[in-house]
Amino acid sequence: MKRNPDIRIKTPEELILLREAGSILAQIFVSLKSSVKAGKSTAEIDLLVEELIKRNDVLPAFKGYRGFPNCSCISVNEQVVHGIPGKHLLKDGDIVSVDIGIVYKGFYSDMAVTFGVGVLDSSAQKLLDVTKQALLKGIAEAFPGNYLGDISSAIQKYVESRSFSIVRDFVGHGIGRQLHEDPEIPNYGSPKTGPLLRSGMVFAIEPMVNMGKPGTKTLKDGWTVVTVDAKPSAHFEHTVAITDSGPVILTD
Ligand code: MG
Repeated sequence: MKRNPDIRIKTPEELILLREAGSILAQIFVSLKSSVKAGKSTAEIDLLVEELIKRNDVLPAFKGYRGFPNCSCISVNEQVVHGIPGKHLLKDGDIVSVDIGIVYKGFYSDMAVTFGVGVLDSSAQKLLDVTKQALLKGIAEAFPGNYLGDISSAIQKYVESRSFSIVRDFVGHGIGRQLHEDPEIPNYGSPKTGPLLRSGMVFAIEPMVNMGKPGTKTLKDGWTVVTVDAKPSAHFEHTVAITDSGPVILTD
């Protein structure tokens, strides 16, 4: 039974602040939703994210992180993650993954949602539904006494049972006083493997699901990750605390 000594167990006081950080971020997404629509540029959406972050008196976690230029990563259609907001105009039928991290009183929260613009075709809608559901399947395994591999495996099994593929090149992570803490949380793996889960661990769980093959590549801008086969990809993420009574979604 392997236990990872680097996984930080949060105190009840820390959990209260992480919960606040999560709840503010969830509110930012609620405020953002109606602005993700046809005719908007991804830069305009990012500007709104920046305003909402300021209005809530928190700090952006991504801006300046390893030189990332914006407050949000916005990844459209075949873009998987880490898209840089820009002049690209959204149109009906697009799927738009928005990923935002914030810092509140020194504590991080991280969340991503893939929005549909206008009416989606049925395969794109299914991709969004399956990815969101895969995240919930993973979260449902985040109990003390379970293993990290139980989360990973539940996500992978669900996604593959729906004939989509799970991205291997990017993973979730622990979160707390830093944006990325141990452990890495793959969205694929075997049950009953990896670190034992304990109450007080806080994870950012974030399946990225491709309609086609799982392969990705990074564009020349050094950030934007796209699918190798140019088929669409979706991404949902929550910051989740493991408690004695089970998983608590902090970004809710
Ligand atoms: Mg994350």
